[in-house]
Amino acid sequence: MFVQCGGDGIVIGENPYRTAFFEAFPNKPSCFLRGEGATIEEAEQACWEKYQKVLTCDHEMERRNRTGGYGYCKHCSYSSIVFEPLTKCCKCGVPTAHSTDKDGKSYCKKHARFIPLIKRRGFLFSGNDEGKGKPRRPRKIKKRLKNAAIVVFGRQNIFGKIAFSVSVIDTVKMNCNGYQMSLMFRKQERKLLGGKL
Ligand SMILES: [Zn+2]
Ligand SMILES: [Zn+2]
Repeated sequence: MFVQCGGDGIVIGENPYRTAFFEAFPNKPSCFLRGEGATIEEAEQACWEKYQKVLTCDHEMERRNRTGGYGYCKHCSYSSIVFEPLTKCCKCGVPTAHSTDKDGKSYCKKHARFIPLIKRRGFLFSGNDEGKGKPRRPRKIKKRLKNAAIVVFGRQNIFGKIAFSVSVIDTVKMNCNGYQMSLMFRKQERKLLGGKL
């Protein structure tokens, strides 16, 4: 199990707050868990409790807004690729979330090379399973996120260079002077860009 933790993160919401966090990426079952608390110990405990729940839960998976096969348990923090993609390859009809063209048509791995050049998206797709078919953030967006983060960090009297990274589960992490802002949802990114934080 891979774990990472930090004494200070910033949770984005209506009222941003500082928190200790503890994140775990168990292999069995393969998922991502995050606990938060006033201290790292509390955060780890919260994460541990989530993990215990995951291990004993009788999962009931739902897609929520994901079409690529990724699902979330209704009762615990478990999430993973458990469904067939809802989208089908326009060439062979196989359910796939491999690539899409500018018109939103899907192509499987085998037929992705048939996407007409003019219909190709102007950016690369990330190669990991989770991120299949998900566009990377254009450089312009990264820059705007970083600039918006400078403002939010600044409001908490945290100043410095922003280090931008994206985790394997597509969480944007921005570190500034030892503090971390973690955006687990695209919704949070949009909120940040809209200056609503
Ligand atoms: Zn569950
Ligand atoms: Zn195909």
